[in-house]
Amino acid sequence: MHLHFSRGTDRSIPARKGGLEGLESKGAAATPACAPAPNQKAPDGATIVAGIDAGSTAVKLVLDDGNRRSVWQRPSGWSPGETARELLQEALAAWGRKREDVAHICGTGYGRVNLPFLDSAVTEIACHARGAVHLRPGAQLVIDIGGQDAKGILVGATGRVLDFVMNDKCAAGTGRFLAVMAHALGMEVAEMGALVPGEGLPMAGIHPHPINAMCTVFAESEVIGLLNQGVDRRAIIAGLHQSVARRVAAMVARLGASGPVLFTGGVARNAGVGAALEKELGCPVEVNEQSPFAGAIGAVLIAREKAAG
Ligand code: ADP
Repeated sequence: MHLHFSRGTDRSIPARKGGLEGLESKGAAATPACAPAPNQKAPDGATIVAGIDAGSTAVKLVLDDGNRRSVWQRPSGWSPGETARELLQEALAAWGRKREDVAHICGTGYGRVNLPFLDSAVTEIACHARGAVHLRPGAQLVIDIGGQDAKGILVGATGRVLDFVMNDKCAAGTGRFLAVMAHALGMEVAEMGALVPGEGLPMAGIHPHPINAMCTVFAESEVIGLLNQGVDRRAIIAGLHQSVARRVAAMVARLGASGPVLFTGGVARNAGVGAALEKELGCPVEVNEQSPFAGAIGAVLIAREKAAG
């Protein structure tokens, strides 16, 4: 799979054999390394389908021609619907295709209601479950933390949703909380997320400083206060990761899962939160390099089924 980040600040996801084959340019008109010639049929004759996850922070788009997939991502901006439309145009141009060449477009994410060009719209819960089980067959619990909500989804073998829990009422425990805190700490969210505990690492010997505020606005003031008191920034970061992980772990405990856990959503890029989640849950929390795109991947899989009738 190829990844394209347009006008974005997100870091690349490392390529892995058997998974992502490469990472494309950050330009607005990125071209896949192996773009098919215009109107070239995929070897199996399959048509193109698309999955779009129009999130609060980033729009993620997957094109699939039955033979391979490419992923594009762009910050949502003020209008995720408009951004999704532009991203689709960009992606199709990069593949030398037109809208008419796409047999089915399935959308998800909170902005899906503003995408008039969709052929179908499916809930985020269903798409994340579907995408997660595709990425990690056998996953039983999906923890999805995005820009404005956090979800725990109990999934069956085929990606069927058995049960779920969700926090979409409060920014604490979401990517937005981490973005606000990174700003207060004067760093990028990616820089903050890369700080994980471990021997020989910058966080070695650092203990989380508890963050007591339950609300993002008050937690931001608390962080600023701690910085002014001279508390080590790394201890504050560890405390913030712990705070997110504790909230999410308490929420997903209600699902009573005991099998493999896959972490999805943009916050899955935050290794510090992943490590804190493992500690709070007391079990391994797996992250796939395509975890941030699980929703769009689920949508493209559903689009493929719908295109097949
Ligand atoms: P949405 O679907 O709501 O648009 P995403 O699933 O794309 O949200 O997640 C967005 C969140 O992901 C951001 O708020 C940020 O906290 C986190 N994030 C994005 N990129 C990175 C990164 N490189 N490192 C750590 N966290 C990241």
